[in-house]
Amino acid sequence: MKKESIHYSLTPFDPAGHLFKVRVSIPRPRARGQALSLPAWIPGSYLIRDFSRQIITIRARSRNSDITITKTDSHTWLCAPCAGPLHVEYTVYAWDLSVRGAHFDQSHAFFNGASVFLGVDGRTADRCLLEICPSPHTRDWKVYTSLPEAIGHRRAARRHGFGVYAAPNYDALLDHPVEIGTPQVVRFRAHGAEHEMVFTGQAPRLDLRRIAADAQRICAAQIELFDPHGKRAPFLDSSERYVFLTMVTGDGYGGLEHRASTALMTSRRDLPAQGRAAAPEGYQSFLGLVSHEYFHTWNVKRIKPAAFTPYDLSRPNHTRLLWVFEGFTSYYDDLMLVRSGVIDTPAYLTRIAKTIGAVRRGAGRRKQTVAESSFDAWTRYYRQDENSPNALVSYYTKGSLIALGLDLTIRQATRGRRSLDDVMRLLWRRFYLNRGAAARGVGEDDMAPLIQAATGVDVADFIARYVEGRDDVPLEALLAAQGFVLRRQAAGARPSLDIRTRCANNETRVATVYEGGSAHRGGLSAGDMLLAVDGLRITDQASLDQALDRHLPGDEVSVHVFRRDELRVFTPTLAEPGPVEYAIEPAGGGREVYR
Ligand code: ZN
Repeated sequence: MKKESIHYSLTPFDPAGHLFKVRVSIPRPRARGQALSLPAWIPGSYLIRDFSRQIITIRARSRNSDITITKTDSHTWLCAPCAGPLHVEYTVYAWDLSVRGAHFDQSHAFFNGASVFLGVDGRTADRCLLEICPSPHTRDWKVYTSLPEAIGHRRAARRHGFGVYAAPNYDALLDHPVEIGTPQVVRFRAHGAEHEMVFTGQAPRLDLRRIAADAQRICAAQIELFDPHGKRAPFLDSSERYVFLTMVTGDGYGGLEHRASTALMTSRRDLPAQGRAAAPEGYQSFLGLVSHEYFHTWNVKRIKPAAFTPYDLSRPNHTRLLWVFEGFTSYYDDLMLVRSGVIDTPAYLTRIAKTIGAVRRGAGRRKQTVAESSFDAWTRYYRQDENSPNALVSYYTKGSLIALGLDLTIRQATRGRRSLDDVMRLLWRRFYLNRGAAARGVGEDDMAPLIQAATGVDVADFIARYVEGRDDVPLEALLAAQGFVLRRQAAGARPSLDIRTRCANNETRVATVYEGGSAHRGGLSAGDMLLAVDGLRITDQASLDQALDRHLPGDEVSVHVFRRDELRVFTPTLAEPGPVEYAIEPAGGGREVYR
């Protein structure tokens, strides 16, 4: 018997109400009752999000009559009994302007499958067809996605058209986000493979040619890293194109990786404009984001931890390895910028020095290891509060310093014959090209033996101290052996309260009190509204800076605050200027650390 596909359709029908109409048809449901459920989270973003709460209405029909639907848990609906083919129709509220959700208004529609497509219990291995339907509101709109068109289907979509698209299974259906609208688009090829960059949102005079030229170099460098001889793009196993879906806003930043695409959010001011020779300062951050998400095409979308093989989308999936999947990716995102030539060496060293400063500022690194931070991502890293810098370490930033430390350790132990690149290539061969191991995923204790197998270097002690332990990666010594000096540098002359502030509407609040610092010892708390320093009113960061500029470290100042609605006064002793910054400089012919 020929296997029948699950049919989905999606219609953006109410732009002012932000509603999609979705229909799923199951040719042979379980007669006694068919369960359907929506993911509780989306891969790549490790937080239970309960997307099911945006399903507003739902009904089920079989043989032209309504059948009963019963909710059996937060994410699951049971349709019973099913006399014949089952059709479930529901509306989804799409007003989450993030890379993780769904968004629809008069200007465009965007969705991730995890927000909109109910999975059919027991049938997630079946082929899925998705018909994207036009409505009176979508005239002139086009469809942008890495989801392949359903070639051979009588209503198959044409490239960028409405119509039917196909996914080999439910997991694939969820992993190709879709943008529908009238965006700015540019295309390029990297080692023969097609890449498309799509920009939604207002961005006048966007310099698409410059962006495409830079992205092309980054993508080509990454393909060469993983496949130096064949130079085959990894996504060709699931799509003939890679798509960057970018939402441009006033001040957004973020990305989410997929198997043949990524959803990005960026600030308009970080993007280059035509006719300007110099790109804005933030453009490096945008290219870093492009580089980061593209690197995930290998590292986490195909080389996966065993804990994600397969994903269980109904509950948190714990792994102690996000320092590899996010940390290594964060190391390589910068490295690929300099290796591909889109930034120069001083800019690269500045980016690393900034990361070192960010990691070493947080007292949380003395309390949590990156392995623990990975495991607890669901309840801690993804649910940060005012105390997080004192309580957590980031598996992104410390993970990237661990990758740098490993790379330098390997290069120094092998006199430059091996590097972390060899580790990435072995991961790729073992956990992707060799399909048996790929089905198993990277085990929790696989990294030390794998690094030894790839390079001959025993890093068990390194992993024990810096991954499973809380020590700072000894980058001063590792960089010195490479011909570079890592040094602390003064952060100006202004004494510090050792706080992070949040300013809005002429109010300045304490956002974080750094542990052991001036404000902590002086009694200030996160949430306190700063009213005056030395009796002079504080409205914004500039007025606070001005007040502190009149002092020296060691001075006592009087600080008036509202804690809730109660007036309090504290007299903290000001600390040395902060935060401490770092710089990396060549010391007598520093050797390249990035080829
Ligand atoms: Zn990432």
